[in-house]
Amino acid sequence: MVDDLAGNAVADVVVVGAGPGGSSTAYHLAQLGIDVLLLDKASFPRDKICGDGLTPAAVHELVHMGIDTSGWMKNRGLTVIGGGHRVHLEWPDQKSLPGYGLTRARGELDAELAAQAVRAGARLEENVTVTGPIQDSSGRVCGVTARIGRGKDAQEISVRAKLVVDAGGVAARLATRVGLHKRVNRPMGVAARAYFRSDRGNEEWMESHLELWSGTPGESDLLPGYGWIFPMGNGLVNVGLGSVSSRADATALPYKQVFRQWTASLPSEWGFTPENQVGPLRSAALPMSFNRAPAYSSGLVLVGDAGGMVSPFNGEGIAPAMKAGRFAAASIAQALSRTSRAGCDRAMSEYPEMLRAEYGGYYQLGRVFVRLIENPQIMRLCTNRGLPIPRLMKLVHKLLSDGYERAGGDIDDRLITALTRVVPAA
Ligand SMILES: Cc1cc2nc3c(=O)[nH]c(=O)nc-3n(C[C@H](O)[C@H](O)[C@H](O)COP(=O)(O)OP(=O)(O)OC[C@H]3O[C@@H](n4cnc5c(N)ncnc54)[C@H](O)[C@@H]3O)c2cc1C
Repeated sequence: MVDDLAGNAVADVVVVGAGPGGSSTAYHLAQLGIDVLLLDKASFPRDKICGDGLTPAAVHELVHMGIDTSGWMKNRGLTVIGGGHRVHLEWPDQKSLPGYGLTRARGELDAELAAQAVRAGARLEENVTVTGPIQDSSGRVCGVTARIGRGKDAQEISVRAKLVVDAGGVAARLATRVGLHKRVNRPMGVAARAYFRSDRGNEEWMESHLELWSGTPGESDLLPGYGWIFPMGNGLVNVGLGSVSSRADATALPYKQVFRQWTASLPSEWGFTPENQVGPLRSAALPMSFNRAPAYSSGLVLVGDAGGMVSPFNGEGIAPAMKAGRFAAASIAQALSRTSRAGCDRAMSEYPEMLRAEYGGYYQLGRVFVRLIENPQIMRLCTNRGLPIPRLMKLVHKLLSDGYERAGGDIDDRLITALTRVVPAA
C-alpha cells in the first residue's frame, strides 16, 4: 500500500469502513474515475449485527451500484401484528421504487458491495484498523493513521488524502476524534438479533410485531419496543427486537430476557427453540436522525451510521447509508475539481444540503414519531385503533418504510411530502 517516498499511502479520497455506506461511496467515486482507497479493519466476508432486511429503498440503491440481485430472497411486503390484528402490507410498486424488498445476510451483502467497489476501480485494503485522523495546522483532516494486522506483527502506517470519509459505523472514530460528538436530542435505538433454522425460512412476507410484553402476553406490561421475523430464504430466519428512545441515552430494555419470552410465545411452527438457534443473540446501537453533524467539515465527510443516518421510523440504516454514499461521491467529485481549498469546501457544502433535502423533514417527523411511540400506552392505542383501518395503514406503510415519492405520486405521497416540508429539517 506504500505509495510515496516518505512511506505514506496516498489517495485522492480515503474511505474508512467498507460497510454499505463506505462501499457505496467508494463505488460511485471509482465510477467517476477518482482514485479511492477503501480501508476496513475486518476481512470479508464478516458478520455484522443486523436484521438483514432490505426495503425497496435499499433495492433502489443496489440497482444504482449495478448489483445483480437475481437469486436473492425477495419479499412482497410486511405482515404487521399487534392488538389482535394481523395486516399484510404489500410494498407499493412506485415510479422510483420497486414493489419488492429483499433479505441478504450482511456477511454476503457487504462482501458483494465491497467487491463491486473494487470492480469499479476502488482499492480495498482489509485488516487495516484506522486509529485516528491526520490534521494539518489549521485542524483540517488530510489523512488517517492506521494499523495493519494485529498483535506484535502489526504495522503502523499513515495515509494522505485530499478528502477523508468516515463510514466506520456507529463508533464514528474519526468524527469523534475531531470533536463531532453525538447530539443528545436525537433518537437512539438498540436492537438485538439471532438466527434460527425454521421450516418457514422461505416465506415471502417479513413480519413486524408491535407488542413486546414484560411477561405473559396480554397480562403483563407492554414494553417500548417491537420485534421482527425476516425469512432469509435458506432455511434460516433472522429474528430480532429493538427499542428506541427519543434521546441519545438508549432504552434499558432487558433484551435477552424479553427476547427469550417473546420467541417462546410465537407460534410453534416457526420452531424458535434453543436447539434451532444458530449463533448467539447479539445487539448493537442504531444512531438516528443525523445524530452527528455536520456531515461535512474541514476535509472530513460522514456517511451512514457515522453520521447517525438510521431512519427513526423503522431502524433502517442500509438504504440511507448507501444513498448518502452516492450523494457524497457526487459532491466529492465536484470538490476535487476546484483549485482552492475554499472552493473545495464550497462544493462539499452541497452534500449536507442534499441529505437535508432528502431526509431533513422526513427525519424531523420521525423524531416526533419516536417521542409518541416510546410511550407504550400511545403505541398500544395506535396499534389497536390504526391497524384495522386499511386506508390508514396504506399511508402509514409508505411513511414508515420511506416508500413515498419525493415528487408527484398519489395522494399519500403528496401528503407525506407536504408534511416533510412544513417541519424544520432535522
Ligand atoms: C440489530 C440490528 C438490526 C438492524 N437491522 C437492519 C435492517 O434490517 N435493515 C437495515 O437497513 N438496517 C438495519 N440495521 C441498521 C444497519 O445495520 C446500519 O445502519 C448499517 O449497517 C450502516 O451501514 P454503515 O456502512 O454506515 O456502517 P457499518 O455497516 O457498521 O460498516 C462500518 C464498517 O466500518 C468498519 N470499521 C469500523 N471502524 C473501523 C476502523 N477504525 N478502521 C477500519 N474500519 C473500521 C467496520 O468493520 C465495518 O465494516 C440494524 C442494526 C442493528 C444493530
